[in-house]
Amino acid sequence: TVVTGGSAAASARAKPYEDEVRSLLARMTLAEKLGQLQQLPWSWDLNPGSGSTKEVEDAARTGRLGSVLSVFGARTTNALQRIAVEESRLGIPLLFGLDVIHGFWTNFPIPLAQAASFDPEVTHTDAEVSAKEARSNGVHWTFSPMMDVTREPRWGRVAEGSGEDPYLTSAFAAAKVHGYQGSGYGAKDRIAACAKHFVAYGGAEGGRDYNTVDVSESRLRNLYLPPFKAASEAGAATVMASFNTVGGVPAHGNTHTLTDILKQEWGFGGFVVSDWTGVQELIAHGFAEDGADAARLALNAGVDMEMTSTNLRTHGKNLLRAGRIEEQRIDDAVARVLRLKHELGLFDDPYVDESAAITGPSAGARDAARAAASRTMVLLKNDRSVLPLKKTVGSLALVGPFADSADLLGTWVVPASAERFPAVKVLDAVRAAAPDAKVTYARGVAPEGTDVSGIGEAVAAARAADVTVVVVGEPSALSGEAAARSDLSLPGAQEKLIAAVAATGKPFVVVLVNGRPLTVGDWLDSAPAVLEAWHPGTEAGHAIADVLFGAVNPGGKLPVSFPRTVGQLPVHYNHESTGRPDAAANKFTSKYLDLPPTPQFPFGHGLSYTTFDLGTPTLSRASVSAAALRKGDTVQVSVPVRNTGSRAGDEVVQLYVHDVAASIAQPVRRLRGFRRVGLDAGAATTVRFTLGADDLGFWTNDPQGEFQLEKGTFELFVGNSSTAEARLALNVD
Ligand code: BGC
Repeated sequence: TVVTGGSAAASARAKPYEDEVRSLLARMTLAEKLGQLQQLPWSWDLNPGSGSTKEVEDAARTGRLGSVLSVFGARTTNALQRIAVEESRLGIPLLFGLDVIHGFWTNFPIPLAQAASFDPEVTHTDAEVSAKEARSNGVHWTFSPMMDVTREPRWGRVAEGSGEDPYLTSAFAAAKVHGYQGSGYGAKDRIAACAKHFVAYGGAEGGRDYNTVDVSESRLRNLYLPPFKAASEAGAATVMASFNTVGGVPAHGNTHTLTDILKQEWGFGGFVVSDWTGVQELIAHGFAEDGADAARLALNAGVDMEMTSTNLRTHGKNLLRAGRIEEQRIDDAVARVLRLKHELGLFDDPYVDESAAITGPSAGARDAARAAASRTMVLLKNDRSVLPLKKTVGSLALVGPFADSADLLGTWVVPASAERFPAVKVLDAVRAAAPDAKVTYARGVAPEGTDVSGIGEAVAAARAADVTVVVVGEPSALSGEAAARSDLSLPGAQEKLIAAVAATGKPFVVVLVNGRPLTVGDWLDSAPAVLEAWHPGTEAGHAIADVLFGAVNPGGKLPVSFPRTVGQLPVHYNHESTGRPDAAANKFTSKYLDLPPTPQFPFGHGLSYTTFDLGTPTLSRASVSAAALRKGDTVQVSVPVRNTGSRAGDEVVQLYVHDVAASIAQPVRRLRGFRRVGLDAGAATTVRFTLGADDLGFWTNDPQGEFQLEKGTFELFVGNSSTAEARLALNVD
C-alpha cells in the first residue's frame, strides 16, 4: 500500500506553505520532482562517480538535484546556490546538509559524554552554538541528533548517541532538536535537525556496525522508538533511515517503521532522508533485485530523499510508467522537501551573507564548550581523595599518549575545524593551571603501538614527582562509524604504562579519554583515582585541568554501563529478569561461572569531591487508580538531598521504576526521572519527580501500537546511581 500524507495528528497541524508548495508542484516536470528527492555529496570521492563537483553543478543547473551534503563555506554554498536559483528552470534553492554532530568550529564533547552530564542544557548549548556557526557558513541542515539507544560498547557509534537508556536519550534528543532549531529555522542562526538513525541501529548484533537487528515489537517501541518520538514531538525537521534490518526488513524498505509508525501513527510531517547509499544497499541486503527495485521499495516504504546513490532519480520515470510507484507518493515526498525549504526561508533569501560568516570559535563559544566538557566528566574512583590536585603541588608528572596530544576531539568533527582549531592539550592546560608547579612530561607509550621502550622515562618522571597524571585512552578514530572493536581494553601498551607507574608506589591519577565504555582490567585496583573525561572537544585540556585541580567539582554520571569484560556483553542496567536471577544461592542461576553478572561501573554511577546524603523518599500517595492516571493524574516522589561535604558540588538524583508483574516481563528497573542539582557545602534541597501513565505503562507487542498501563504494584528506587536501594511501593488499582 502506498500512503501519502500524515495521520489525523499531522493534518491537525496546519501544513505550512501549502499553497506555495502546491502551485510549485503543479509546474514541475517529473524529472524536476525526482530531482528534489536527490541529494549528492559535494566533491567527496568515496564512491567513484557519485559525487564529483561537476556532477553536482550540472545537476543543480538542470533541476535534477534537491540537496547537497558535506558542503559548507559561505562563498562555496552561495556559488552553488546561484547555479540552482539563477540557472535552473524553476530556480528552486538547494538544501545544504552537513554532519554537525558536536560542533562546527567549536567542538563540544562527544554526544555520549554530553549525556553523562545528565543535564540536557549541555546539549542544548552545543546545538545553539553549532547552529550559529554552521548557518553563517551556508549550512541549513545537520544530520544530528543521533539517538540510537545501544547496549553495545563494541559498537563504535556508541560515541554518537546518549547511551543505553531510552528516557535519558529522549531528553537529550529533544534538547538538541530545540537547540538547533530554536523556535524556527527561518532564523539566520538556526538549522534544521535530523533525527537518526531510524531505527534500532544500536541493536547491531555483536556490536559490528551495520549488522542485523532483530527485535520484538515491544522492544522496538519501549527501547528504540521513544527518542525518535520525543524528537518528532520536539519538531525535528527530518529523520534519517538506518543501515540495519529490523526483523528481516531493511530500515530503508521498512513500511512498518517509516510509514505506519513514523508518518501515520506519529503524524511526522517532515521528510525522511536515506542514509549514505542506503537505498542502493537494499540490493546487498538481499531485499531488492536491482536499483529500480530498490528505488521502488524505499519510496513506497516512506523514504523521501535519496542520499548519494541515484536510483530514484534514474528509475523513477520507468517505475511510474510501469505502475510500480505512484505519482501521489512522489508528490508527497517532494512537498515535504519543498516545505522545509520554505520554512528555512530559502525561497525568500537563498544566500548567506559572506561578510558575516563566522570564521572560528568565539571566546564565548570556547567558554561554553569548556564548561560543557567539565560537566560531562565522571569521577569513577577517588580513593584516599587523591583528587582534586592542589595547585600548590610542588612537582607533577604528566605521562601517557594523550597527555601532549590534540587527538581529543572525538569522532565526527568538521575536518577543517580539527586542522584550524585543534584541541587544547592537557599538558599545556595543566602548566597554565599550576604555574608554580614543576611539570614534567613523558609519553611512555604510543596510543596503539606495542613499543614499551619509553616506559622507563615515564616511570622516572613519576618517581621524581609528588603526583602523576596518566592520560590514556582511545584515539578518536577508534569510535564512530565503522569503528567497532572486539577488545575494549586500553589499546596497545597503555595498561603496561599504568602498571609501571603504579609500581612506583607514588600517588597517581588515571584520566581516560575515550569514545566508549572501556574494560578497565586489573589496573583499576592499583589506580587510586580514575577520571572519565571522554573525548572532550576543543577545550579538552582546560576542562580536564579544571576538574583535576578542583575548579570544577565533577558531577557527571555514566550513561552506559562499563562491562568487566567483553565476554560479559550485553550488560546494561535495564535488563529483564530471568526466571533464575543470580540472587539465589543456587547453582542453576543465570550467571557466568567466572565473573559476577554486574558491570564494573553501573549506569548512573559517578562520584564527587564532596559527599551527599539522600534522605528518605516519599510518595504523595501510596495508591492511585489506573483510570485516573490514564486521565492525566500524577503521583509525586520527593527526596531531600544535602551536600554533607565541605565544598560545593552537583548530585544527579535518579528515579527508577519497576512494574512488579505485567503481561510482558518488565526491565528490573527503568529510569523515569533525573535531576542534576548543584548545592553549596552544607546546603539542602528537595527534588521532586512527577510520575504519570507514560512513566508507568509500556508498549505491548501489538504492531498497531498499544500502550498499556497495568494495575498492580510498582517499585520505585531513588538514589544516585542505577543501583539505588531506597525503595517505595506504589499501588495502581
Ligand atoms: C552515516 C550518517 C551520516 C551520513 C552522512 C553515513 O555514513 O551513517 O550518520 O549522517 O553518512 O555523512
